[in-house]
Amino acid sequence: MLYIIFTTGRCNLKCKYCGGSFSPERVPWKPKYSADDLIRFLSGDPDPIIAFYGGEPLINVDLIGEVMDRLPDARFVIQSNATLTWRLKPEYWLKFNAVLLSIDGRMEVTDFYRGSGVYRRVIESAEWLRRIGFKGDLIARMTVSEISDLFLEVNHLLSLGIFDHIHWQLDVIWSDRWRRFDHWCRESYIPGIDRLVSLWIRRAEEGMLLGIAPFQGVMKAIIGGSIGSPPCGSGVNSISILTDGSIVACPIAVDVEWARLGSIFENDWRETVNRIRIGDDCRSCMYFKYCGGRCLYAYKERLWGESGFRSICRLTIHMIKRLMEVKDKILHLIDKGIINIEDLAYPKFNNTVEIIP
Ligand code: SF4
Ligand code: SF4
Repeated sequence: MLYIIFTTGRCNLKCKYCGGSFSPERVPWKPKYSADDLIRFLSGDPDPIIAFYGGEPLINVDLIGEVMDRLPDARFVIQSNATLTWRLKPEYWLKFNAVLLSIDGRMEVTDFYRGSGVYRRVIESAEWLRRIGFKGDLIARMTVSEISDLFLEVNHLLSLGIFDHIHWQLDVIWSDRWRRFDHWCRESYIPGIDRLVSLWIRRAEEGMLLGIAPFQGVMKAIIGGSIGSPPCGSGVNSISILTDGSIVACPIAVDVEWARLGSIFENDWRETVNRIRIGDDCRSCMYFKYCGGRCLYAYKERLWGESGFRSICRLTIHMIKRLMEVKDKILHLIDKGIINIEDLAYPKFNNTVEIIP
C-alpha cells in the first residue's frame, strides 16, 4: 500500500494553478497526531511505500526524519517543490527510492506559474542530489497548463540529462476552464504528443529509452494487457493521511465526503478500501483497459461538466492511439535486444506517478 503523508498543509510557494497553502482549518499546518500514532498505524503494513507530501513536505523535516528512522525497511518517495531541499540532511535524501521535483519545463514557463527563480532552484536541487550520490529515480513532475508547449517543455527537461523520468499532469481538474482550451489542444497539445511519440520511437531505435513516464506506463499496459483503475491507485492501493489523522482516497480530495475512508485511529479503515470506484461509463469505454478511467477525482467531481470531461478523454484517447500504433515497433526493438523490457516497464511500484496525464 502507498501511504501519502501530508507533513503539513502549508507551502512556501503560491503557484498559479494551486494557490499555495491549504487553509489551516481544512488541512492543519502541523500534524494533530503524534509521530508514535503515525508509526503505529504504518507498522501494520509489512511492505509500506511512504510518500511525503503537503503543502511543501520539507517544511516539516522532523516528521520525515522520524518516520524514515523508525521504518527503515519501507520504500520512500517525496514530492517537493525543491526550494527547501537543504533542510533535509543528505543521509535521508539517499534513502529515497523516488524523488519527484515540481518543474514545468523551460525556465520562462516554470517561473511564470511557480514564481521567479523557482526553475533555477529546482535545477540546483536536482544537481545537488546527483552530487551527493542519489541513485534513486529522479522525476521531473510537470504541470501542463495554458502557456505550456508539451513538446518543448518535455524535450527541454530531457535535454538537461538530470532526470530519469518526466511526468506531466494536465491542469484541467481544479482550475477554471481555460480561455482557449480547445484551441490549445488542437494546435499545441495534440501535435506535441505526436512529436513526442515520434521522438520516443526514434531514440528507442537508437537504443535509448527516453523516460517519458506516461508513454512507458501506457505502453506497459498495452503490452501487458491492462492498467489499474484508477491508474494512480487512489482508494485501491494508495491512501492519503491528512495532518488531522484522517484518511482520504486521493490527496487532492481533502474536502469531499465521497473520498473519506476513516482515520489513523480507527481499525476498520481497510474495509473501506476499494469502496470508491470508477463507474460503468468508463468501464464500458473501449479505452478503459489502457486508461483506467484516468483520475478518480476528476471522474467524481467533473468540475468542467460532462463536455469538459469528454474533451479531456479525447486527449487521453489520442495518446493511447498513438502508442498503440507504435506497439509493434516497440516489441520488435525488445525482440532485437535494442531496448530492454525491464527498462520500459514503468513504474515498478506505485511511486505517485499517475501515468495518465
Ligand atoms: S477515455 Fe474517458 S471515458 Fe474512456 S476510460 Fe478514460 S476517462 Fe473513461
Ligand atoms: S490522478 Fe486524480 S485521483 Fe489520482 S491522485 Fe491525482 S488527483 Fe487523485
